[in-house]
Amino acid sequence: MTTPVKTVLVVGGAGYIGSHMVWLLGQKGVDVVTLDNLSSGHRDAVLHGQFVHGDIADRLILDKVFREHKFDAVMHFASFIQVGESMQDPAKYYQNNVVNTLNLLNAMRTYGVDKFIFSSTAAIFGEPEYSPIDEAHPKRPINPYGWSKLMVEQALADYDRAYGLKSVCLRYFNAAGAHPDGLLGERHDPETHLIPLVLQAASARRPHITVFGRDYDTPDGTCIRDYIHILDLAEAHWLALQYLQSAGETTAFNLGNGNGYSVESVIQAAKRVTGKTITVQEGQRREGDPARLVANASKIKQQLGWQPAYADLDVIVEHAWQWEHNHASGCTGTK
Ligand code: UDP
Repeated sequence: MTTPVKTVLVVGGAGYIGSHMVWLLGQKGVDVVTLDNLSSGHRDAVLHGQFVHGDIADRLILDKVFREHKFDAVMHFASFIQVGESMQDPAKYYQNNVVNTLNLLNAMRTYGVDKFIFSSTAAIFGEPEYSPIDEAHPKRPINPYGWSKLMVEQALADYDRAYGLKSVCLRYFNAAGAHPDGLLGERHDPETHLIPLVLQAASARRPHITVFGRDYDTPDGTCIRDYIHILDLAEAHWLALQYLQSAGETTAFNLGNGNGYSVESVIQAAKRVTGKTITVQEGQRREGDPARLVANASKIKQQLGWQPAYADLDVIVEHAWQWEHNHASGCTGTK
C-alpha cells in the first residue's frame, strides 16, 4: 500500500529539470517547496508551490525550511553539470555537488526525513566497456563531475546502512526537449548542450553549430548519445517517489531511451523539424567525451513500469524548437 505523497522539497526546482519536476508534482496534487539559490535557475520557471531563495550550504536556511514543513521526501537537482568546467575547477564541483549535498542529507537526518531522490549521471561510468550501459557496468568516472556524483551515490548507500535513509539514484543520460505545451524549457547561460545550440543556430541566434569531432568510431564519425525527453525524466522521478513511499529499498536506475543518436543525426532532425538552414562548422573533439553513451533502461522499466512517452528524436527536437521559438529569443543565452 502506497501512502499518498503530500509534501516534497525540491532542491534546484528553478532549473531545467527541477522546474519540469515541480510542474509535474503540481499536476499530481503534491505540495512542493522549491529551494533554489538561483545561480542558474529562474524564479519564473517555478510554476507550482512555495519558493524559498537559498542555498543548501546554508544550514540556517535548511533548519528554517525543515522546521516549517513536514516533507515526505526530498528531490535534489541542484548541482553543477559541466564536465569541462569540472576539469578546470574541481573544487567547485566537490564543494557543491558533494559537501553541500552532505549538508542537505544531514539536515534530513536531523529532521527525520528519510526518502531522497538523487540526480545522478551516466558520467559515473566513465569510458563505456560495453553498450548499452546497464547498472552493473563498471563505475570509473573520467572527470570530477562524474566523481562528485559517484561519491554521493556511495554516501547514500552508507547513509541507508547506518541511518536508514532510503534513496533512489537516477542516472540520467542526455536530458533534452521541453514541456510539450511550451510552458518550460532549457535556459542555461552559457548554453553548452547540443540540441538547444543547434536550434539557436537554426533561429540565427548563433552563426553556426560546431561539431566536436567527426573521427569517432561510430557509423558517421560523430558521438552518439541517448536523448531522453524532460517529461519522461520527470515521470521517472514520480515513479521513484511512489516506490520509496511504498517502502522500496535504496537502489539506482539508468535512465535513457536506449536509442543512440549521433551529433550528425541530431542536426538532421533539427533541419527536418525547423525547415531552416543550419550552418555546420567542424571542430576538434571535446575533452572527456566518450564516443557512445546509450542506456540500458530495462531495470526501471521492469521494476517501476517506466515507459517513455516521447522517445522519438524528432518529437524531442520539436518541443525544444517550440520553446526556442516562442520563449527563449528574449533571453541572454547567446554567449
Ligand atoms: N556537441 C557538439 N557541439 C556542441 C555541443 C555538443 O558536437 O556545440 C556534442 C558533444 O561532443 C556530445 C554531444 O554533442 O557528443 C552531446 O553533448 P551535450 O553537451 O549536449 O551533452 P553531454 O553528452 O556532454 O552530456
